[in-house]
Amino acid sequence: MKIVIVGGVATGMSCAARLRRLDEHAQIVVFERGEYVSFANCGLPYHMGGVIRDRERLLVQTPESLKASLNLDVRVFTEVTAVERTAKKVTVRDVRTNRTYEEAYDKLVLAPGARSLRPPLPGLDHPAIFELRSISDMDRILARMGTGARRAVVMGGYIGIEAAENLRLRGLEVTVVEKMPQLMGPLDPEMARFLQEELERHGVRVWTGCGVTGFQDRNGEVMVQTEHGAIESDLVIFALGSLPNADLGKAAGLQLGAFGGIVVNEQMQTSDPEIYAGGDAVETQDFVSGRATYIPMAGPANRQGRIIADNLCGRDSRYRATQGTAVLKVFDLTVAMTGLNEKALHKAGLTYRKVYLSPSGHAGYYPGTAPMRFKLLFTPDGKRILGAQIVGRDGVDKRIDVIATAMRGNLGVWDLEHLELAYAPPYGSAKDAVNMAGFAACNLLRGDVELWYAEEFDQLPPGAVLLDVRGPSEFADGHIPGAVNLPVGQLRAGHGTLDKSRAYYVYCKVGLRSYLAYRILKQHGFQAKTLSGGTDFFPTSSATPADTGCTPQGSPLQSSARQNKQNMQTNNEESEIRTVGLDCMGLQCPGPMMRLRETITTLKPGDVVDISASDPGFPSDLAAWCRSTGNQLVESHPIPSGICARIRKAVPPVAAAARAPAGRRKKTFVVFSGDLDRVLAALVLANGALSMGDDVTLFFTFWGLSAIRREQAVATTGKGLIDHMFGWMLPRGLSRLTLSKMHMAGMGTAMMKHVMAAKQVASPQELLASARNQGLKLVACSMSMDVMGLRPEELLDGVEIGGAASFLAEADESNVTLFV
Ligand code: FAD
Repeated sequence: MKIVIVGGVATGMSCAARLRRLDEHAQIVVFERGEYVSFANCGLPYHMGGVIRDRERLLVQTPESLKASLNLDVRVFTEVTAVERTAKKVTVRDVRTNRTYEEAYDKLVLAPGARSLRPPLPGLDHPAIFELRSISDMDRILARMGTGARRAVVMGGYIGIEAAENLRLRGLEVTVVEKMPQLMGPLDPEMARFLQEELERHGVRVWTGCGVTGFQDRNGEVMVQTEHGAIESDLVIFALGSLPNADLGKAAGLQLGAFGGIVVNEQMQTSDPEIYAGGDAVETQDFVSGRATYIPMAGPANRQGRIIADNLCGRDSRYRATQGTAVLKVFDLTVAMTGLNEKALHKAGLTYRKVYLSPSGHAGYYPGTAPMRFKLLFTPDGKRILGAQIVGRDGVDKRIDVIATAMRGNLGVWDLEHLELAYAPPYGSAKDAVNMAGFAACNLLRGDVELWYAEEFDQLPPGAVLLDVRGPSEFADGHIPGAVNLPVGQLRAGHGTLDKSRAYYVYCKVGLRSYLAYRILKQHGFQAKTLSGGTDFFPTSSATPADTGCTPQGSPLQSSARQNKQNMQTNNEESEIRTVGLDCMGLQCPGPMMRLRETITTLKPGDVVDISASDPGFPSDLAAWCRSTGNQLVESHPIPSGICARIRKAVPPVAAAARAPAGRRKKTFVVFSGDLDRVLAALVLANGALSMGDDVTLFFTFWGLSAIRREQAVATTGKGLIDHMFGWMLPRGLSRLTLSKMHMAGMGTAMMKHVMAAKQVASPQELLASARNQGLKLVACSMSMDVMGLRPEELLDGVEIGGAASFLAEADESNVTLFV
């Protein structure tokens, strides 16, 4: 039997390899129009980001290795251009030579994959706009990055998010632009929010609800035109999604479906029994709804290739629908899903119930875990699980796989309660997250708990009471408008103050305390419901492109709940709250504090900064900075390589109250030394103090004057010989300063500069520039200048000249004076 396969990657090669294992005598010809077969397309974003360093690792096989190991006839650079079904032959074209020829088949397998969705946007042919589907696409992107590209715009879902992360890892400024109000359509909006926050936390700008209208060239750059303004960019990743590559099948008269994919039966046979098809080119049946679906993913593609081979070899092997199980890494977060989401269930007209919960990835007392956000959807009788979405830091992938397996095994939520899953503190909890999801769902179905959801907030019944059962300080920090506070610990004693004629809508942060409160209230005869998942599942505002006026167009659920959350965050602040991500990983002290201060000055009171930093001194610096400036340290928690923290900008009265009583926070440093290390120390301290909102004056005297000399020689008049001699001896500017010790004829100083650069410590020049941007005052001592023969024009612009009196006056006003 001669089998011809079109497409030599996931489906095609999985089919070819299985065929050979089952039939040693079959003639197997694989046509692949690209340069590579069997390459790891899922790894492309990671090579782009430098995570997979060696490009060769993506090239799993070659035609030669496949010939040697499996006796396959693999022809690369060869495109199949037509199928003649009656004659049972294909026409092929060598894309390098343009030579065409025909190849007969007994059975044909179509595995040509997908093509990118490309709406007709003006300027889409700009050379700096790239898809990411193949090795050559990746090579082109890397080449563009190699030309010094600094800014990237990414459009798209799954692949786009992976590309955004990896471009950011390579240091580019990245903006993700999404027409829909949320990222990642397969997630529900309240779950997608966590993913967006993670991107923003790592410095990726995310513009949701913002369609791209076209592209324009500007001196080789791409101006990405959006509905709300233009974004300058050096490269664009255009990954809007995939369409089935069904042209060959269509031209051959094969039946296509509603998604434009080739229609196949369970054996992956097309409407022509001699032709099989699989992978991204076909549409399949959805496992949950039973309807046609198009989910182009590697798992289904590989399994389908294998099933095709089985059937070609006379076995009865059937594909059992596509479930949409997927997992995605977004910086420190894992995002995973299986089955249908709420939007899809609505669309399919299926009734469902849902629970939200936040179990830990593993035992909370064992380091390195964090709560995962877990959403479970199931039938009202609990006999079928319809879908799950999980977002978290550890253990997300195994939980989604357990749920996916449970769905395949037709287990219901009743069964999840009883699953016996592996446990030791580093890996899980004695009540595993999956058990917990089962408990939560079964509690609901048994009537042990009545839930309310964020989207109901706008329609609470008249007279309903919002009862916040968190601690008073949490309540004071922010709460849902109109809520009253009665901490769960006081409820047993205090429920007598509540009114039994009213319905209590209880809530807390993650749903546990409010569940306990609910149980107490119910057993004392109150009407109550508890907020599923707690306020953590209320969608917040996103970092919108406020600078261009682009705002997210959320669903009713989002907008009402977003407003609630904003009110919760600020109490009285009525305007839109922004959350800004700030990635300071790798920056050394005082870099993170400097960047935080710069960022927070651009925000308005109540706005939030999510910062991540790896500098080991940052946690204590941050706490001190917040105490001193009145900004609120909302939370901080360790991450594998540092910490991440959330800071809310102080509303003015708080900030004012936090200032020193006399309102005189001034630091004066005398820079006497011209040694690099001493000047550096003075600049670091100055930046730190400025970050904390203090005024700082650096008073340069004697050798210290070298630090504020211009680098270039300046023509001066009236200098005597001694003045000139001092001028030659006194180094000109920061770049010429040397270490006080171990200078070693320049080697030590050069080494120090190299180490500082490698460890991302800001250079003295950067520190000086940053401090000056923050208002640093530079004063040169007039007496020293005179003695050293320096003229004012030899100093940097903006340096004031002062005498002892001005120093003493500054020192008198300062609460700290240092001599460096
Ligand atoms: P492909 O693997 O795309 O192979 C089709 C091949 O057919 C192509 O090489 C093409 O050149 C060739 N071809 C097309 N037409 C012709 C013709 N006329 N003649 C000859 N050859 C032809 N899925 C996941 O599940 N997880 C992931 O993490 C993931 N990451 C991804 C990352 C990227 C960057 C990309 C692009 C995809 C990713 N996917 C992922 C999707 C997954 O790779 C695809 O679903 C899967 O490869 C589809 O397999 P396929 O065989 O149908 O198509």
